[in-house]
Amino acid sequence: MNTESGGTLAIDLPPVLSFVVPCYNEETNVRALYDRIVAVMGSCEETWECICVNDGSRDDTLATLVALQNKDRRVRVIDLSRNFGKEAALTAGLDHAKGACAIPLDADLQDPPEMIPELVARWRAGYEVVNAVRLSREGESLLKRASAHLFYRFFNRISKVPIPKDSGDFRLLSRPVLDALRQLPERRRFMKGLFAWVGFRTTSVSYHRAPRQAGQTTWSYVRLWRFALDGILSFSDAPLRVASYLGIGVSVLSFLYALDLLVQTLLFGNPVKGYPSLMVAILFLGGVQLLALGVIGEYLGRVYDEGKARPVYIIREMVQRSNTDL
Ligand code: UDP
Ligand code: MG
Repeated sequence: MNTESGGTLAIDLPPVLSFVVPCYNEETNVRALYDRIVAVMGSCEETWECICVNDGSRDDTLATLVALQNKDRRVRVIDLSRNFGKEAALTAGLDHAKGACAIPLDADLQDPPEMIPELVARWRAGYEVVNAVRLSREGESLLKRASAHLFYRFFNRISKVPIPKDSGDFRLLSRPVLDALRQLPERRRFMKGLFAWVGFRTTSVSYHRAPRQAGQTTWSYVRLWRFALDGILSFSDAPLRVASYLGIGVSVLSFLYALDLLVQTLLFGNPVKGYPSLMVAILFLGGVQLLALGVIGEYLGRVYDEGKARPVYIIREMVQRSNTDL
């Protein structure tokens, strides 16, 4: 076990576990998270580091993290140049993890550190990915739980790589998986999908998800909707095909309508169907075309984003440990 004052040998060797914690305005939570990790790891043999990524917080998160780092050399702080979003912050942390495996953790203590020994035991038993699956989601509204439920089911229906239902980013990723993730060049990183896409021997353990310890979630419904859209569009081209099927459907319908008109004219000599049918046809086709254009636009926007090839995140500083606080 590496202790805070561990000898040079322990410091120079890479740790076994890297915890990766994206932090956005989490000043009240990070210290509690650190205390819980230390408590759990006290009874665990593995060496560890905790990489905290400050994702452009506007409160005192950075100062709190730096104080923790100065107290304990196992804490490492990466300060991003602005708020890049959770997926980017997580990517930054995973890129810099030195451990034989990494475990992303939410700073708000919704992912209980007490699960870590169980994840590690599965990894030691030979699994390369160990997912933590939520049995319950306390403290989340019915609407959020229902929309999450629907999302997972819809996603898995249309994506070629299914993502495990009800698992967030809380999981154990071994070194080969981390190396594989680093090879994926995409900018829009829907991590849950990427984790599943890389494959590897996977198992899961279940846990009860606690409510947020303190502070507010930054995921509004609008943000969740965009996130869901990102996930679906990055992992499926089914929406592009919808346009073709709609086109076929509309053609068949209009052919039937033409037949009906022909029969009406021949039998009853009533060739003019009038204004309402015309309006319905125009509006319906207009709607279908706009929808199809919109879907193509969504994909095109993403192609444009990827084409620009900007980095996923920018690091302002890999904060160095200062000994002045000791
Ligand atoms: N987070 C982040 N950048 C953001 C938003 C969130 O790094 O722009 C972090 C946040 O600090 C927390 C984790 O991502 O550690 C999960 O965020 P949150 O608890 O708000 O999401 P929820 O649990 O409601 O899905
Ligand atoms: Mg949370």
